[in-house]
Amino acid sequence: MSTQEHRNKSGFETRAIHAGYEPDPTTGAVIPPIYATSTYKQDGVGGLRGGYEYSRSANPTRTAFEGAIAALEEGERGFAFASGLAAEDTLIRALCRPGQHAVIPDDAYGGTFRLFDKVEKVWGLDHSPAAVSDPEAVRAAVRPGETKLVWVETPTNPLLNIADIEALASVAHEAGALLVVDNTFASPYLQQPLTLGADVVVHSTTKYVGGHSDVVGGALVVRDLELAEQITFHQNSMGAVAGPFDSFLAHRGLKTLAVRMDRHCDNAERLVAFLQAHPAVSQVIYPGLPEHPGHDVAARQMRRYGGMLSFRVAGGEAKALDVCARAEVFTLGESLGGVESLIEHPGRMTHASVAGTELEVPADLIRLSVGIESAEDLIADLERALS
Ligand code: PLP
Repeated sequence: MSTQEHRNKSGFETRAIHAGYEPDPTTGAVIPPIYATSTYKQDGVGGLRGGYEYSRSANPTRTAFEGAIAALEEGERGFAFASGLAAEDTLIRALCRPGQHAVIPDDAYGGTFRLFDKVEKVWGLDHSPAAVSDPEAVRAAVRPGETKLVWVETPTNPLLNIADIEALASVAHEAGALLVVDNTFASPYLQQPLTLGADVVVHSTTKYVGGHSDVVGGALVVRDLELAEQITFHQNSMGAVAGPFDSFLAHRGLKTLAVRMDRHCDNAERLVAFLQAHPAVSQVIYPGLPEHPGHDVAARQMRRYGGMLSFRVAGGEAKALDVCARAEVFTLGESLGGVESLIEHPGRMTHASVAGTELEVPADLIRLSVGIESAEDLIADLERALS
């Protein structure tokens, strides 16, 4: 069955395991080999076997992963990169030109903000931050004729705000812009932005897609073949591609995405209930909670609410730092989306670079990336750390 047929006929879990690769015709290998080769023998000048000539342009291990992630996002074409930011930079250069403008989240991932603010702006792409949970705020920030991209994360990091993808697709398209959705926090198992009108999906595959904190990578997925052409050209011209071993790891992670995500969500729900009842916790931020301002939109566009949650502690920054230091099953560290639970203090860690700007986060905020360990152990660990 071709990737397209898999996509049309199979459930998500089946696609996760089978899309993008057929067992190797010569050896029968059921898993894509790691094609550690830079070049390919040609049968006479220009006589390519299977279309491969040089591994910056294409490599079979990368092709398999790119087909699989495209199928899971219900897109036509996938592209794998050396990191999430490499994917973002390639996308921006492929679609924008100096003199144009982008709307970005006012609580964007710090690295994305830095890319727009310190790299793309120097190149000539202007940007305006807007609250992407409010389509009218995004509409007000759009400059018709000038805005090329409306860039959205949902849920956002670390405040887990929710953007209404369908509404923002209309806002972007009415202004002649494209909607880009960073789907890193949700993963394609929980949310498929292309089916809601987005033009491009971005991933840091370092997170839930890879899922084991053992690889840094990025991906783009599109439906439109003209966009695909532009990205293909820039992926090859800029060269920030995923290598074969990284592609193999990201692809291996993808196969278990559905079961991992369900466990991440189960554990997050258990922790939310525990934290809500704890006297040292002043607020729990999780889109699955009915009081979360984005809950209704999340319920509409997400299968479940994810493995990320944030909470604020009574006692300010000192208490938050103390909780982070005392957790033991939760590892103190940046990043997210791996099988192991992580705890971090956004104000001093992931979001330190936005201190003093409009993106600053509360000092008493703690962010959890809830892993797939036993929920009882995670609860006991936080109970100890909060006491
Ligand atoms: N997008 C989001 C939402 C992220 O959290 C990150 C990294 O933390 C990135 C993009 C950048 O990805 P990478 O670190 O793989 O370059």
